[in-house]
Amino acid sequence: MTFHYERVVAPAGGLRLHLNENTAGCSPRVLEALHNLNRTDIATYPDYDGAIAATARRLAIAPERLVLTNGLDDGILAATVWALKGSPVTAPYEAIIVVPAFDMYAACVDAVGGTVIQVPLRADFAFPRSEVIDAITPRTRAIFLTDPNNPTGLRIPRADLEAIVAAANGAMVFVDEAYADFAGDSLIGNPLAESRANVVVGRTFAKAYGLAGLRAGALVGTPETMEALRRTVPPYTLNVGATVALPAAFEDAAYFDWYLDQVRASRQLLYDALDRHGVTYWPSAANFVLARFGADLDRVLSGLAARQVIVRDRSRDPGCAGCARITTGVLAHTQRCVDALKEVLCGVA
Ligand SMILES: *Cc1c(COP(=O)(O)O)cnc(C)c1O
Repeated sequence: MTFHYERVVAPAGGLRLHLNENTAGCSPRVLEALHNLNRTDIATYPDYDGAIAATARRLAIAPERLVLTNGLDDGILAATVWALKGSPVTAPYEAIIVVPAFDMYAACVDAVGGTVIQVPLRADFAFPRSEVIDAITPRTRAIFLTDPNNPTGLRIPRADLEAIVAAANGAMVFVDEAYADFAGDSLIGNPLAESRANVVVGRTFAKAYGLAGLRAGALVGTPETMEALRRTVPPYTLNVGATVALPAAFEDAAYFDWYLDQVRASRQLLYDALDRHGVTYWPSAANFVLARFGADLDRVLSGLAARQVIVRDRSRDPGCAGCARITTGVLAHTQRCVDALKEVLCGVA
């Protein structure tokens, strides 16, 4: 079995609620910072010191505990290479992935010749703590966890995380916190991430900060692990635009807070609409909601698309039959989706 990232094409001009992007765009300060770049800046290999210092301050960690990457995807690849390095062809190292999950973990494990061991979430997407621990073998080199989960939006109980790290036997425990800004909670700062050499936390500035097009992510762990990971990441992986965008985005706290408020209000707006239509959903700690439309799914997807609203079909993910994932960003955008959904489900034209 091989794995790859499934790219989805979205028609131009549609409302993009399918990739959990920031639907408001980045802070205007980011654009200003990009405007201030000059021709020499573009012609020069970027200096990361300012971006590293600003990001370390934002995450409240020492710079030694941080590696910036060209999007978190780049960080996932680097961490996978580090963890599965030397995997024997005859008896490949194993990576445990709790599914449904972001495609990139399996794609990267596959790319470096490791074996993907999938552990499904339990009924109603409950976290499978004992199943993950039971899947650990002497060949396990990586365990990929996502908190909050994508596509369910559910959190991993902290006790479950601790139990897995304790049982990991030195295998890398990669905790993908792409949506931690929305959850308002992080493993960074927890003794688990501070002291364990095998715990790597991944962050992205694509989602809450709206920098998906610039590509900016981060890995966080012990100074020793980050030192090792730095050797796996290309020396100039972040482009000059991203290096000036990060400090500018962090300075605009008001914009960030406004967006988190929009996301909270949007989730509630969507929950209320789904309740009215009798559609099952899972309360999300992220900027999207997974909803089970069941037999109506195809009608919902095509009906929304016909109204220029793009949501993500997740029905082929394990345990997600009949499900779509809907980004909840700017309130007005969510309202457009809710209105379109009403037309589709109630047959009003
Ligand atoms: C979006 C996403 C990423 C990728 O972030 P980039 O910084 O855009 O590469 C990683 N993990 C999860 C779970 C995501 O949803």
